[in-house]
Amino acid sequence: MVGGIGVSKIRQNIVLTKEILQALKGYAESMQKNVTFVVQNGEHSKREELVSFLSDIAGVSEKLSVEERDTNGELRSAISFLLEADGEDTGIRFSGIPGGHEFNSLVLAMLHAAGTELKLDDSVKSIVKAVSEPLNFEVFISLSCHNCPEVVQALNQFALLNPNITSEMIDGGLYQNLISERDIQGVPSVYLNGELFANGKVDASVLINKLLERDASLKDANKGESLPLQDVTVIGGGPAGVASAIYSARKGLKVAVVAETFGGQVKDTMGIENLISVPKTTGPELVGNLMEHVRDYDITLKEHVRVDNIEQGNVKTITLSSGEQIRTRSIIVATGARWRELGVPGEKENVGNGVAYCPHCDGPFFKGKDVAVIGGGNSGIEAALDLAGIVKSVTVFEFMPDLKADQVLINQAEKRDNITIIKNAATKQITALNGKVNAIEYQDRSTNEVHTRELAGVFVQIGLIPNSQFMKGTVDMTQYGEIIIDDKCLTSEPGIFAAGDVTTVPYKQIVISMGEGAKASLAAFEYLLSHEVIETEKESEKETEAA
Ligand SMILES: Cc1cc2nc3c(=O)[nH]c(=O)nc-3n(C[C@H](O)[C@H](O)[C@H](O)COP(=O)(O)OP(=O)(O)OC[C@H]3O[C@@H](n4cnc5c(N)ncnc54)[C@H](O)[C@@H]3O)c2cc1C
Repeated sequence: MVGGIGVSKIRQNIVLTKEILQALKGYAESMQKNVTFVVQNGEHSKREELVSFLSDIAGVSEKLSVEERDTNGELRSAISFLLEADGEDTGIRFSGIPGGHEFNSLVLAMLHAAGTELKLDDSVKSIVKAVSEPLNFEVFISLSCHNCPEVVQALNQFALLNPNITSEMIDGGLYQNLISERDIQGVPSVYLNGELFANGKVDASVLINKLLERDASLKDANKGESLPLQDVTVIGGGPAGVASAIYSARKGLKVAVVAETFGGQVKDTMGIENLISVPKTTGPELVGNLMEHVRDYDITLKEHVRVDNIEQGNVKTITLSSGEQIRTRSIIVATGARWRELGVPGEKENVGNGVAYCPHCDGPFFKGKDVAVIGGGNSGIEAALDLAGIVKSVTVFEFMPDLKADQVLINQAEKRDNITIIKNAATKQITALNGKVNAIEYQDRSTNEVHTRELAGVFVQIGLIPNSQFMKGTVDMTQYGEIIIDDKCLTSEPGIFAAGDVTTVPYKQIVISMGEGAKASLAAFEYLLSHEVIETEKESEKETEAA
């Protein structure tokens, strides 16, 4: 993200204030290439606004310019423009005026096109560079969408890496005909060569994995690539993984971190008020701090790639989705978990605006309001009891005719005046007004009647899924997929430790994950001191082959 630019103030009516232009001027000083915004000729009511917006930006540096031209069908309409770097088409296109949350996408596209280093792992770059067929991406966005810029920015970088790739941001608000033609229900919605490719919350790792699903041979670009032997490899870049990596690096160990999405669940969190000593922060801010802290140490970070497999042994071999391998003397698994989703309309769209998964975290934001808890198991009833002390009322919706929670919890819930329990209820949809949840629609499964209940928040409590599938058969797990650890975070396999939400540790919280991560790394250090972890002949051969 381009820090410091107050894009939130820009919204749809773009006002490039003196402060914003000053900040842009500073960024533009590092530009190595000339960048031209090429605007398609033609008529459109918004065209003048677009040209004036781009001209204001171009005014900050001699290296920037605006040109109006007929691009012979390269661009969609008279409010579309592309970026050229030193006269070469970059493959980056914008259809609409990138204000709101997309302003950062435009600024980053401009700086990356001018030579600023791309923020992608080398193995990801190799995969993108290996694409040999034309890939034309269209990303439908809305300027108020928080999740859209990440997709636009990732695809713009792909376009810069490979002339076979183009990436076009399309403001759905200005292309209503396309939105209805393609029946687009939510943004971001990504099309590849005219076919739906991805939608919803998507980041660079998801896009890369989808490209690999389409063409597994792209992995060959990284064949034979391997890091030097690591003392500790941390899998996961959430609070537990980051704590593990920092503690390990501080012991002088050689550390690598593999993180599909750096920040983990924290990235999806709006407000955090229970990280002790930090009274108030946001997910993106905390992720920024975690990254800064990691960067303070000599830690190899492999981002946007996933661990697919672990080969056990004295020295362990980790295989990444990019095709690379890492040989390591110990492993800390900190791959976290994800909340099981309801999968009804209005859920994904309103996360952070009334739809929540964590009562400890988000309950206080609903003080004095009416909320629902979906799920009548132990976690649902515990959540209802927890919330009942803060909010005005809690309605628990249970799909089955009976609650699954322990009787002692049910008894406590029944004693509370502000908890109502509705059984045999199938949630149909969550509705919102002005961007905030305002009601839930549910069907009484005994009568099939559909009812609406007005409320401000919905807490989904239908389970947490540990991200542990790739460890099946390697370490012992519970029936729910949690990795079983002892009090020093050791798993059933010597040299493999685990920390945070992916484990059996009770209570899934940031501060707990950080503590567990620290503990796992100290235990790994102790293990490395007391075990001679040396390579067998066969393993050394592998190293020689890779080198
Ligand atoms: C919406 C929301 C709000 C929350 N609010 C709060 C709050 O206010 N306060 C609080 O204390 N807690 C909160 N939590 C809970 C908290 O975020 C988690 O407890 C914490 O993030 C767990 O940390 P972790 O490192 O164990 O796992 P995660 O944060 O889940 O991180 C897991 C990491 O592993 C990576 N990963 C997964 N699989 C692989 C793989 N195969 N290969 C490579 N990498 C992989 C992920 O990409 C990620 O980097 C919230 C959770 C959510 C979802």
